[in-house]
Amino acid sequence: MKVPLLDLQAQFQQIRSDVLAAIEEVCNEQSFILGRRVEAFETAVAGYLGCRYAVGVASGSDALLLSLMAAGVKPGDEVITVPFTFFSTAGGISRLCAVPAFADVRADTFTMDPEQIERTMTSRTKAIIPVHLFGQCADMEPIMELAERRGIRVIEDACQSIGASRYGRNAGTFGYSGCFSFFPSKNLGGVGDGGLIVTDDGDLRDLLLALRVHGSRSDYHHDHIGLNSRLDALEAAVLRVKLPHLDGWNAKRARNAATYNRLLTEAGLLDHVALPVTDPGNVHVFNQYTLRVQRRDELMAYLKEREIGHKVYYPVPLHLQECYHPLGYSKGDLPVSEHLAQEVLSLPVYPELTSAQMESVVGRISEFYNGR
Ligand SMILES: *Cc1c(COP(=O)(O)O)cnc(C)c1O
Repeated sequence: MKVPLLDLQAQFQQIRSDVLAAIEEVCNEQSFILGRRVEAFETAVAGYLGCRYAVGVASGSDALLLSLMAAGVKPGDEVITVPFTFFSTAGGISRLCAVPAFADVRADTFTMDPEQIERTMTSRTKAIIPVHLFGQCADMEPIMELAERRGIRVIEDACQSIGASRYGRNAGTFGYSGCFSFFPSKNLGGVGDGGLIVTDDGDLRDLLLALRVHGSRSDYHHDHIGLNSRLDALEAAVLRVKLPHLDGWNAKRARNAATYNRLLTEAGLLDHVALPVTDPGNVHVFNQYTLRVQRRDELMAYLKEREIGHKVYYPVPLHLQECYHPLGYSKGDLPVSEHLAQEVLSLPVYPELTSAQMESVVGRISEFYNGR
């Protein structure tokens, strides 16, 4: 049986008429930039996450960039983040001519290791960006404690973790701001690019509302130098339709992850693969179901041949990316991230996946390692 890594059609078919009606309404109004659709979605997400304000922007990458701008990150400042993440976590830092300072991750949960932060801090450290990777929160208590003690801001990269929580508190609501993405493959995916920033701070919200429209608070008067980075009304209208389904989809992802854990265990594969670890207190929403596996490249070739979807998130840690050569890192500097980059493999975990499909995925993995 063929199993795709992601099947967006399966989800669209369930909500097709509501999505198309929302798009038609926006087209009938011909009102595409900001306005009441965007406001309605912002209010709905703030309510869903239990925070005061949400500001829709053009992408998750821009949510990070705008948060850093609002935090006053300037050329030469340092921002601590992890190397085992998507590029844009660090890209926004560099766009402001600030310097990413990489702290390694935990080998079990793949999220920022609080013990690695302190030695990365200098007098120039301005902010920390922990990443809630693959659908679970980073170790927020020690990170917040350290940041508060040093007077440093925490910007959460929650792009993969909308709906995840830690000891009852939602991803994105711990720090100065929380950043989300609606890239179509995220747990709440739009019909194109989109992003959002959440905060409880009214002044920050006002600043972000200005920064997303070129730093202007009234037409053609610019208090700041901002960006053109708005969430489209079309995106907002579609996302508003999808939001009430999010908890159900997230629960199905978690159920699929539990099914894989059981099937892989029953197949006797735990000598060859390490199951994902959920930190105590975390509700994991499994944007990715990611194993650490032996003989990864051979396994990938085997799965590819049999049309079983899979992908490596992420094959090159950021400190070893070509563009970051000038930062002066070498191989061996961040060993956990470097090992993970060699060992991780993500399997299909989208909500509409069937038991038969998961059995097929695990069956092929079992054939590969056990020869049956
Ligand atoms: C998707 C993602 C982003 C960026 O989001 P875009 O909307 O694609 O710009 C940032 N960080 C992480 C961890 C992501 O997964």
